[in-house]
Amino acid sequence: MKKPIQHCSFCGRSEREVSYLLTGHSGLICGDCVVAANKIVSEAQKEVEGAKSEQPASQGIAGQARNDSGSGNAGDNEKLPSPRDIKAFLDQYVIGQDDAKRFLAVAVYNHYKRLKQAQTNDDVEIEKSNIIMVGATGTGKTLMAKTIARMLKVPFAIVDATVLTEAGYVGEDVESILTRLLQVADYKVEEAERGILFIDEIDKIARKADNPSITRDVSGEGVQQGLLKLLEGSIVNVPPQGGRKHPDQKMIAIDTKNILFVCGGAFDGIERKISQRLNTQVVGYTSPAHNTRLDKNNMLQYIAPQDLKSFGLIPEIIGRLPVLTYLKPLDRPALRAILTEPKNSIIKQYIKMFEMDGVKLTFDEDVLEYVVDKAIEFKLGARGLRSITENMMIDAMFEIPSTNQKELHVTLDYAKSHVERSALQYAVA
Ligand code: ADP
Repeated sequence: MKKPIQHCSFCGRSEREVSYLLTGHSGLICGDCVVAANKIVSEAQKEVEGAKSEQPASQGIAGQARNDSGSGNAGDNEKLPSPRDIKAFLDQYVIGQDDAKRFLAVAVYNHYKRLKQAQTNDDVEIEKSNIIMVGATGTGKTLMAKTIARMLKVPFAIVDATVLTEAGYVGEDVESILTRLLQVADYKVEEAERGILFIDEIDKIARKADNPSITRDVSGEGVQQGLLKLLEGSIVNVPPQGGRKHPDQKMIAIDTKNILFVCGGAFDGIERKISQRLNTQVVGYTSPAHNTRLDKNNMLQYIAPQDLKSFGLIPEIIGRLPVLTYLKPLDRPALRAILTEPKNSIIKQYIKMFEMDGVKLTFDEDVLEYVVDKAIEFKLGARGLRSITENMMIDAMFEIPSTNQKELHVTLDYAKSHVERSALQYAVA
């Protein structure tokens, strides 16, 4: 009996008209339809994958952490930026400070690994890697923490430890430092619970060595004790408006388990403690050759937890700030670089501001050198760069918007005449 002619179940063409005809469970498909179907399916897949990859990109790691906490394993295959990526990001905004950047990059990377791991039932619990940065004021501690938060797209707040006092005394209760994070997160508790809190001037709550124990060290050890439970992770009742707690106030409970605390302080005089420790170690343990290799101009690089203890931080606090790093004093080349190199450098900001008024702003190179010289002369460090530039530009910023001027070229004479008649001159001691 003659075999009936078979047709493609999709396009209907007969086996004579097509090159192949594949037999399925209850139908047939020709080679052309297989090719067409493959194209349709792969395009559809591309669209789905595109939509998926856009999501984490706009949410950053924060989004991923959120996904992780929701479904347990969602996002497990998503890639965290590596410590190298984190450092490269920091490099765009912060000049130098390579040691601190590496410590911070690893700490942040581990922090997010920890958040991922917390979702599993693993017995090995990774402890929090809160950070403490020691370095003179204006060397970039706050900038570093702020830049990390910008990268991770998590809420970031800065608080000053100097306003804190022990409960029952004048000043703010320790818990109130979390209010800032809540405010930044628009009172979304879940957001705040993943944020980064920068506690500045942590050295100001050090126990004073000469404080006799019969009087209470209101701003010292008591506050450190109060901070302990925040740093290690616990549920804390936070006054929504900050300040001091009072009985009628409604409190918001915040779990600090996943908040990354970054502390910063100048720890004036800690170099002496470091030297003392190193000298005592050298006697008897290491050769004098080792001693000569110490860089006396930058003792901070040898900082160790016991130096913080000698300075007056209690061991429990030090234990909860396991990542200890330092920032170098900024030298002339660093200050010069800060002026123009970071992505949002001071000079770039002024150029942008003038551009918004349709004015092209340019500077002679010796103007930039002059600004650096003045910052060094006034002992203002990197912070000084901004105030000197502001003084230099204030007249132009006041006048130009009401004129038709389209260009401003700043020369050394212009810079000198404007800075030297500003109040900054009187800031020099
Ligand atoms: P700190 O917290 O150490 O007292 P900041 O981070 O607040 O200092 O620095 C003050 C300002 O100085 C910053 O806003 C920034 O403009 C500038 N600055 C300080 N250090 C650096 C640096 N290493 N790289 C770029 N800018 C810096």
